[in-house]
Amino acid sequence: MWGLNFNSFLPSTNDDSARGASNHSTNETAKDPNIVRITRLPKVEIQLEIMSGVKGKDKMDCIICQLVNEEIEVTKVYEDDSVVAVMDIQPFNTGHLFISPKKHVEFMSELDEELGAHMFKIAMKLVDALRKSELKCEGVNLFLADGEVAGQEVPHVHLHVIPRIRGDGFGLRFDESYFDLPEREELEQAASSIKVAIE
Ligand SMILES: [Zn+2]
Repeated sequence: MWGLNFNSFLPSTNDDSARGASNHSTNETAKDPNIVRITRLPKVEIQLEIMSGVKGKDKMDCIICQLVNEEIEVTKVYEDDSVVAVMDIQPFNTGHLFISPKKHVEFMSELDEELGAHMFKIAMKLVDALRKSELKCEGVNLFLADGEVAGQEVPHVHLHVIPRIRGDGFGLRFDESYFDLPEREELEQAASSIKVAIE
């Protein structure tokens, strides 16, 4: 899955317990409660180490810009003046794709509001197409990693559209503290902090 730093998500073990381990939080990767973790099979780690050599922090060597401009091999599924959707070369399930603005933008906060809305509109179209297609698709996850700590590997906004099949092993895993629900007051305080920052 391009754009996601799975090295930090991967289970520390190489045994079969890592497979489909999305419901477990007992290994090393569960220690930092600030990170939403996604598990994949251990073999992915090797592939991503190779890929890390081609990721770029600048527009010049940004792999998504290269895909947009077809400077490297790419399978596009949708394109218009402002966005492109391409098939992920390391799909979770067949049909996994991602949508990017053609313009090089690193974070959502830097994305023009209309362009962001357009990306979501195209995501809706593609989700609908996936569900109507002959591909196996029992559900869909949208995933956008905004910032390195959130798992953003490529510094160019991209929204993953991931078709889901029951039992496919994809999942989010949480620290144990997740199950201790906060008091209402804490929710109110957090909401207040966010409200005053809305522009
Ligand atoms: Zn780029």
